[in-house]
Amino acid sequence: MQQLHISSSIAQLRFSVIREMVAMARGMARVINLGIGEPDFTTPAEIIDQALRDAHRGHTHYTPSQGDPELLDRLAEVVSRKTGIATPAASILITVGGMGGLTAALRTLLESGDEVLLLEPHFPDYLAHITLAGGVAVAVPSSLAEGFIPPVERIAAAITPRSRVLLLNSPNNPTGAVLPGDFLDRVAELAIRHNLVVLSDEVYDQIVFGPPAESVYSRPGMAERTLVINSFSKTYAMTGWRVGYCYGPTRLIEQMVKVANYATACASSVGQRAAIAALATDQAVVDLMRDRFAARVAMAGDRLAALPGVKIFRPQGSFYLLADCRAYNGNSRELAIDLLRRQQVVVVPGYAFGASAEGCLRIACTRPEAELGEGIERMSTFLATYRQ
Ligand code: PLP
Repeated sequence: MQQLHISSSIAQLRFSVIREMVAMARGMARVINLGIGEPDFTTPAEIIDQALRDAHRGHTHYTPSQGDPELLDRLAEVVSRKTGIATPAASILITVGGMGGLTAALRTLLESGDEVLLLEPHFPDYLAHITLAGGVAVAVPSSLAEGFIPPVERIAAAITPRSRVLLLNSPNNPTGAVLPGDFLDRVAELAIRHNLVVLSDEVYDQIVFGPPAESVYSRPGMAERTLVINSFSKTYAMTGWRVGYCYGPTRLIEQMVKVANYATACASSVGQRAAIAALATDQAVVDLMRDRFAARVAMAGDRLAALPGVKIFRPQGSFYLLADCRAYNGNSRELAIDLLRRQQVVVVPGYAFGASAEGCLRIACTRPEAELGEGIERMSTFLATYRQ
């Protein structure tokens, strides 16, 4: 039989390291999965119930590509209140998760060969999103000693005439770092000076352990060059409903609607009804989940930090914990696979998040407390007896 041709643009993409680790664990007994980044909680019952009632009332059809008009109106209020920037429904697009926002934004903004500045460590999927949109990722490294936030001068030094987009993610996956206000002020100046569009991925913005995370969108002059990506996935434990949203300059949103239209027609109609219910529900459900994540991250962090040679970055948000285990093995892939084989614990090797996180392991604190505790116990045993 003749060889089936696979497009080189797809063939060159690597499979997700996270999913690869989970696949390796398949068939093993007693596995504790601290790999995949999604809340373990079930979507709050009142959200599910309302979505199902709406489905029975006929919300089972296509919605407009831009989104369910009721959801757009509700988000216009929520976003305008939260950001202090008047953001009408025309400046919002409902997407298939945060992923849909990334796809639509990058495809709309990039010409072939345009560069996207990406702060390391970063969400691995950004690389594929940029490649699929014809762009080139330019990584700006940072270290644990720098709090995993690169100095603004380092970002400036990476700018070239082909730079078009600066991608920020706060709170960050995998570090949990929250970008401070003075950093955002300086980044805003840089973006204006070099005519960059800022893509601000804020999908973890409601999972913060201190004061609310600030956004570059609210900086003077930035609403007209910032596209914020957000999602219902992490905030409301709604990963499977696949509803996200983005907001920014109306002219950009108008063009992005075309991508959403041709790629997906619209986000799930029932999912969007669930999103409306999520915004209407008592937000104490969000606080409750956030407090559980905060306690888990602190517990896991304390226990791992007590191990000789392990350095922990204390996250200010998200539900991830990045542990620097370089003292044991600088090759995070080897270390993560050994941990899985010897103790059946899935974590994500740091190299997946860029060279800045090589030697680290990402632990997702998304299992119930007792199971997470057992996973950390097994990691401690593994490291205490580790020989390469
Ligand atoms: N952005 C970041 C930083 C993420 O970690 C994720 C999911 O893990 C997403 C975007 C996409 O989330 P979703 O498409 O479920 O909204």
